[in-house]
Amino acid sequence: MPPSFDVRLDDLTGARAESREATQDSDSNPVGSTSELRVNPSELRVDKSPTRHSPAKAARRAGSQHHGDGAWSTHPVLGDERTFYIETFGCQMNVHDSEKVAGVLLGRGYQQVETVDAAKLVFYNTCSIREKAAQKVFSRLGEFRKHPDHGKVIGVLGCVAQQEGEEIFERAPWVSLVCGSASYSKLPTLLAQLEAGNRRVTGLDTDTDETFETEMTRRDNPFRAYLTIIEGCDKSCSYCVVPYTRGPERSRSSASVLEEVRKLAGAGYSEIQLLGQTVNSYRDPAPRGKTFAELLVTVAAVPGIRRVRFTTSHPRDFGRDIVEAIDSVPALCDHVHLPVQSGSTRVLRAMQRTYTREEYLEKIALIRSARRPISVTSDIIVGFPGETEQDVAETLSLLDAAQYDGVFAFQYSPRPNTASLQMGDSIPEEEKGRRLAIVQDRQREIQVARNNELVGQTFEVLVDGASRRPGQWTGRSSSNRILNFSSPHSDLLGQYIQVRATGASPNSLVGEQII
Ligand code: SAM
Ligand code: SF4
Repeated sequence: MPPSFDVRLDDLTGARAESREATQDSDSNPVGSTSELRVNPSELRVDKSPTRHSPAKAARRAGSQHHGDGAWSTHPVLGDERTFYIETFGCQMNVHDSEKVAGVLLGRGYQQVETVDAAKLVFYNTCSIREKAAQKVFSRLGEFRKHPDHGKVIGVLGCVAQQEGEEIFERAPWVSLVCGSASYSKLPTLLAQLEAGNRRVTGLDTDTDETFETEMTRRDNPFRAYLTIIEGCDKSCSYCVVPYTRGPERSRSSASVLEEVRKLAGAGYSEIQLLGQTVNSYRDPAPRGKTFAELLVTVAAVPGIRRVRFTTSHPRDFGRDIVEAIDSVPALCDHVHLPVQSGSTRVLRAMQRTYTREEYLEKIALIRSARRPISVTSDIIVGFPGETEQDVAETLSLLDAAQYDGVFAFQYSPRPNTASLQMGDSIPEEEKGRRLAIVQDRQREIQVARNNELVGQTFEVLVDGASRRPGQWTGRSSSNRILNFSSPHSDLLGQYIQVRATGASPNSLVGEQII
């Protein structure tokens, strides 16, 4: 996700998180219509910057030579050199999967390094939600073609691995491991096979009912912990690869979720973000198990936990009980990410989203009826096959009606193994870009107005970054607003403090600590 944006509409989408180990789609544009992850534009000191790889340097360090023409000499083996580098593309679920993969590797005695150059084992955790995201990993892999003696063992994880399977070995013969997102539980076995000298190993099953739980997870953020409670997806939105790449829905038992939350609280984490492609479709596998709303309340009651977030919610499964839980438990954050995708019922039908425009707006009304103001963010796709000017106008009017606090808008990207592939890709890219800009402009106006109304209000902020400029900090409110603020104090990282908003931009607020 790294490149920062001048103007962003997505700051409120907590999902679009902070890990700088995630890499952003290149179809991004300056107003937040892009991939799942954004870097915080302020100069944070908390996370580490991603490092582009340099096979040439790596080959030099390994003392090997370039034999020219991409000639493939020997296939490196893992041996005793136990260092790894992992680069993550895509959504926060991928970021968290990488944290778990890192935990598995650390548990096997590997050491994580910050550059490809310094690593023996190089993993790319990939995203295939849009074509450009998928292409990115092949461009990374392509760099090794020029340097066949890089001496590294390379693995491709995640959605592209699941989608392309063993074809990755054809396109990039220097890859040794291909493991799809639905098969991570096999990773320790696959690693053991690599360590034993196997040249190529694969994990590509999707028919698993297992979730990816690890004994150890190496989390990037010291204050906010991601925790996947449901993996896969049983919806069948016609444009989406996720059901294919991540397999069917599997929920983790509430007992195991709570056990991990208690451990996280004990380790000093105060904010938990529960993750799932459709997080609110959670079904506790235990007999007489908890509903999603009950799980939220129980997680929020764990001593030491001050904030609980959850993303992404599917409108069909979003019920009154979730709103009531947020209303009655202050530790449940007052933010819901509820992607609509389109304001036109006609397009929603073609997308197989399982709700109409009116039914979606009823969910928004439900959220707005809460006693606590709850911020709402959304995702929108423009240029779906057959989308008309009238459909775009309905999306714009839905923006007016919903009054979102943030929106991610995307240009439709046809994907393999999806139903909409058969519908063609009738809207030219240029026209998709025009529609995207119109949607973003309208949403920007809405956010400017909404954020201006917040000036003068006080927010409790979890401080998660410091600017290089002395006295300048950044943090997030419970509603997931970014506040860039001044304070005379030092050592604020990880603290909850009161900040008064003194100014607003479309994507964030500025303010000062109340002393
Ligand atoms: N499960 C979430 C939901 O149902 O809203 C969304 C998860 S998906 C990883 C994130 C977003 O990517 C979607 O909400 C959608 O807006 C966008 N997206 C998915 N497939 C897409 C495609 N083929 N082209 C463009 N955007 C797409
Ligand atoms: Fe994809 Fe739809 Fe599942 Fe979301 S609900 S992950 S958009 S299939």
